[in-house]
Amino acid sequence: MARVRQKHTSAELRVRKVLHRLGHRFRLHRRDLPGRPDIVLPKARLAIFVHGCFWHRHPGCSRTSTPKTRHEFWKAKFAANVERDRRNEQALREAGWRVLTVWECETTSREQLEPKLKRELPSRE
Ligand SMILES: [Zn+2]
Repeated sequence: MARVRQKHTSAELRVRKVLHRLGHRFRLHRRDLPGRPDIVLPKARLAIFVHGCFWHRHPGCSRTSTPKTRHEFWKAKFAANVERDRRNEQALREAGWRVLTVWECETTSREQLEPKLKRELPSRE
């Protein structure tokens, strides 16, 4: 089973909506960048990944459970995902990008999401 890298998930849409409201312009899924970040803000040199907590192993998150069956299989699979994320992030930083990871569970509350995004972005005022 290949890792499902879904595009345009609802978590992603929620992040895009907040960025829009804050007045930022962005591009989606740029193929020419490592890991094909979900959202890219070229002016701010910021690459955003909107990660599903389960697949990308959000530390300490309740959604980051491990299936009871085929435990070793899942462990290896998750380790590979985390390692791939780490490599992509490093490659982006080396290319001069800042990287922000937004976890799926953080997108459910706008009160939580908006300040997190604002911290990383230049003020529009
Ligand atoms: Zn989470």
